[in-house]
Amino acid sequence: MASNSAEGIRWDLSDLFADPNDPHIESILKACLNQAAGFAEQFRPVMEKPMELTAAPLHQALVQLETIYEALGRVGSYASLLYAADTAKPEHQDLEQRVEQRSTEIRNLLLFFELAWLQAEDDVANKLINDPKLKSYEHYLKSLRRYRPHTLSELEEKLINEKDNTGRNAFGRLFSEVTSSLTFKLDHDGKTEDLNLSQVLSLLHEPDRALRQRAVDTLYNELSQHAQVLTFIYDNLLQDHLTMDRLRHYPTPIAQRHLFNEIDSGAVEAMMEVTETNYGVAQDYFRLKAKLLELPKLALHDQYAPVGKEVRPYPYQQAEQVILEAFEAFDPRFRQLATDFFMKNWIDAEIRNGKRSGAFCASPSPQLHPYILCNYNDNLRDVMTVAHELGHGLHGCLSRKQNYFNYDTPLTTAETASVFAEMLVFDNLLARQNDPQVQIALLAGKIEDIFATVFRQNVLTRFEELAFAARKDKRLTPDAVGKLWLDANGKYYGDTVEMPEGYRWGWSYIPHFIHSRFYCYSYVFGQLLVLALYRMYKDEGKSFVPKYLTLLEAGGSDTPEALLKPLGVDIHKVEFWQKGFEEINALTKKLQTLI
Ligand SMILES: [Zn+2]
Repeated sequence: MASNSAEGIRWDLSDLFADPNDPHIESILKACLNQAAGFAEQFRPVMEKPMELTAAPLHQALVQLETIYEALGRVGSYASLLYAADTAKPEHQDLEQRVEQRSTEIRNLLLFFELAWLQAEDDVANKLINDPKLKSYEHYLKSLRRYRPHTLSELEEKLINEKDNTGRNAFGRLFSEVTSSLTFKLDHDGKTEDLNLSQVLSLLHEPDRALRQRAVDTLYNELSQHAQVLTFIYDNLLQDHLTMDRLRHYPTPIAQRHLFNEIDSGAVEAMMEVTETNYGVAQDYFRLKAKLLELPKLALHDQYAPVGKEVRPYPYQQAEQVILEAFEAFDPRFRQLATDFFMKNWIDAEIRNGKRSGAFCASPSPQLHPYILCNYNDNLRDVMTVAHELGHGLHGCLSRKQNYFNYDTPLTTAETASVFAEMLVFDNLLARQNDPQVQIALLAGKIEDIFATVFRQNVLTRFEELAFAARKDKRLTPDAVGKLWLDANGKYYGDTVEMPEGYRWGWSYIPHFIHSRFYCYSYVFGQLLVLALYRMYKDEGKSFVPKYLTLLEAGGSDTPEALLKPLGVDIHKVEFWQKGFEEINALTKKLQTLI
């Protein structure tokens, strides 16, 4: 691969710890262990009589818990960030495992607290939840209670936590190690190159059709070589999930994700059904794109082929400029916050061997700033990735005024800030261009990104549902999983995109299926929600900005439904979700006019 403008852009983790051998890591872990033991000694007797519980000791306990979790979060984040930056380094692997084990030990000492809180009868609990002394913990205390019907005894919970390290967590690590060590051998410019997963995936956006086809062939061919281990990992995790569902009394495999997201299945099912009824919007676009490419029909490897005139390469430094400008136009505070990420080295953007593929933003706690990892490959879509992760980053910064328990947002609204940031940057990029061919390229790219977020993530979620349903009957073979994958995708592509035989391996490298099952629908939620919010911003102008900032600052201090209400959003309404598709239609119309 040609040299890359993000070379040398690495994050600086030294404000967390000096290196993996920093003695502070051990001293923090020891201090946490002591504090946790002290906490247990002091509050176990209090919590063991939930009927006599009063606000003052409960408040004291929560403050202490926060302190311990903050400290643990610092160590845990450092270990996982180091590991993500270089999964192959033995000292990173060692640290990650050591911290994971020690944290489990500490968390086990604290576990009684949440469990005892769940034991309290409703009338006692409700009185405390509404006590003004506990105001800042109201949402936390209330939302913990939602796990009441699904929580096991303290001993059982402890056993599960301990066994998970060598059980499902270990299978997750195995998946990460296998997929980040994959090497894809590809003939390019007369020589054979060794590419990693993100590099081979980015070739799908190349103009050269034969190269795109080779990339797809190489991708699926290499994945098929690891079919046995990848299927085994997935099958095992599904079985683990189903076992836990049975033990914890969840009615469906997706139910625990809904509960975690603080959302009900009605809202999600309404959203997914509306999305399916709009698959035709995507199919119309695929026919239009085939015409643009002068093909009778799209093949899978044409899906992301560039059209119009490309803006490329797009150097990292230019991405920084465009993003900051777009943020500034929305609100100067946005620019100010984002500048810190670039200036203070909170972003790791270069491509390296052993580095985790894809991109993420980690916002460990209100006391720490967020960190961003991405693999910047000088494509326009990488600009959008940086904008996306920075959106998360701004959310993470703005909600730092919340306490530890109110800091994290549920997944459904966790993608709001990121996707909104993408819209801002996209409009700025589009407005800068005069050449219609360049505008065509940008619009097509945006539409395809939205499809990847809305339609594809919907397909991914339907696939997961199918896989779980099939696993209930019997162990999954590579063949069976491949068939389910093709079924779910076939509904989306219809007869407008030709799926190659190798596409049956398309599921096998997707980390969400392994690390965070049923995560993907929150992308659909986030994108459709944002399309509607963005329309409101355009209609209302500057008066929308403070409402939006308040939403981000609120972090996870209430349910998504409650936080969105002041903005005029009703997530149970089919009409609301359909609004998102009207925005998508507006984009495709704009593109048609240009053509
Ligand atoms: Zn995201």
